Amino acid sequence: MILDTLLDALDRGGAPVVGSFIGGHAEAPADGTPVLDVLAPATGRRIARLADAGEAGVDRAAVSGLEAFRAWRRVPARERGAIVTELAARVSARADDLALLDAHDTGNPLAAMRADITKGVRLAREAAGLALEVRGETFPLPGHHYTQREPWGVVGRMITFNHPTMFTCARLATALVAGNCVVLKPSELAPLSALAVGELTAGLVPDGVVSVVAGGPATGAALVRHPAVRRLTFTGSTATALRIQAEAAASGHVKTLSLELGGKNPILVFPDVDVDEAAAAIVRGMNYTRVQGQSCGSTSRLVIHASIAGPVLERVAAAVSRIRIGLPTDPMTEMGSLISPAARARCVGAVSRATAAGARVLAGGGVPDAAELAEGAFFEPTVVDRVRPGTELADEEVFGPVLAALTFEDETEAVALANEGAYGLTAAVWTRDIDRAFRMVDALEAGYVWVNDVETRFPAVPFGGWRDSGVGAEHGLEEILSMTRLRAVNVRIG
Ligand code: NAD
Repeated sequence: MILDTLLDALDRGGAPVVGSFIGGHAEAPADGTPVLDVLAPATGRRIARLADAGEAGVDRAAVSGLEAFRAWRRVPARERGAIVTELAARVSARADDLALLDAHDTGNPLAAMRADITKGVRLAREAAGLALEVRGETFPLPGHHYTQREPWGVVGRMITFNHPTMFTCARLATALVAGNCVVLKPSELAPLSALAVGELTAGLVPDGVVSVVAGGPATGAALVRHPAVRRLTFTGSTATALRIQAEAAASGHVKTLSLELGGKNPILVFPDVDVDEAAAAIVRGMNYTRVQGQSCGSTSRLVIHASIAGPVLERVAAAVSRIRIGLPTDPMTEMGSLISPAARARCVGAVSRATAAGARVLAGGGVPDAAELAEGAFFEPTVVDRVRPGTELADEEVFGPVLAALTFEDETEAVALANEGAYGLTAAVWTRDIDRAFRMVDALEAGYVWVNDVETRFPAVPFGGWRDSGVGAEHGLEEILSMTRLRAVNVRIG
């Protein structure tokens, strides 16, 4: 099995070649297949070599999906739900192994990846429980009028690197529950657990119902262009999403895309809050631990009333400075490595340009100097204040552990700062004034808003961005229904 081969290699220091899981089988790559190195970002060590499926592999996966769909769409919904529940059980049974693989592959702490897998399993189980909710309506008109929710056929799902097993589990589950076959493409930066989970579906679903294609951007683009794949979802950056929209249009077919993209999410803190509680929330909202700030929903833009900025930021900086950075497999580690040296360079660049523009580093801001971290892509948890509105650090996503703090004097200014830039994913409002809280919810350009909370999310609640943060929503029934297309039927009764 892919998972056992990879775990064995982690133990022994090898780097096996892994291929895609297509049509029910882990493919042995043919001679001449391009191979990408898979590096553990915390050590720089090569842990696998990834055979790029390319256009031909995507075609094999899509065609096997099309063939499998003929029978799979006839499987009763309740049975599909039971199959997804069994998939969750299989993932759960290998959770420790998958977490270890993800920790090496992503640089995220092992405990965080273990919790992530629990979440992925829960999302899959909840999706399974919604199988019978995929249904239409009737209309009180002459004759018999009803709608049906039909699967798309083969759906293409592209995911990013920060929660590999969790995303794989959840994306497969919702597509399968709705009656689709799936071709999933993980990020080439952390592809391994997706391939392992793909293989866990062998013998559970008919061959071809699930394929996981490995590869880089060209392989993703081939999936977007494939004529059999009319429904696509992508989790990643706005820049790539725009390319995907263009690729989809260039295919000559109309495609339906859901896009789960980035954000520069504001957390608004008004002067009536408890400063200790607010400071703790600001730190938690950054997701410094678990994913090193590499979370789309991180509240990385603090918009705080000038009168309390001093004491709150002092507490934030103190808490952030205590975060323990270390190797992902060290049980004491709270914060691991970024996904790549390029990601670290992005943090270094963003902080240095901000300070050159007058901002001030209150905590972190550099590369840790511990010898055992020297080969990894580590960056300190960072707090930067005096960030000027309209500058790069105020408006652009860093996708790393860098919090940008801006101050405001009144509510109008707070809203303007929060809505600045092109994103609109999450936002948080901290105040004890209920009228103000609802005014803020109404004024914020974001698809998901917390009031006096951050980070907490419940699986049934849809999550999706506005503006350049995306199209559509994931989780719960919303996502499952998006995995279907609607047919209306008009029956004349004579
Ligand atoms: P990215 O845009 O660099 O995505 C890279 C992925 O896209 C890779 O797998 C690559 O192979 C593929 N790709 C590149 N070009 C392609 C093309 N033309 N066609 C098809 N596929 C192509 O993003 P990333 O660095 O992997 O992820 C970070 C981003 O993801 C951040 O912006 C983050 O906010 C966002 N994100 C969003 C959510 C959400 O739910 N909204 C969740 C996690 C991450």
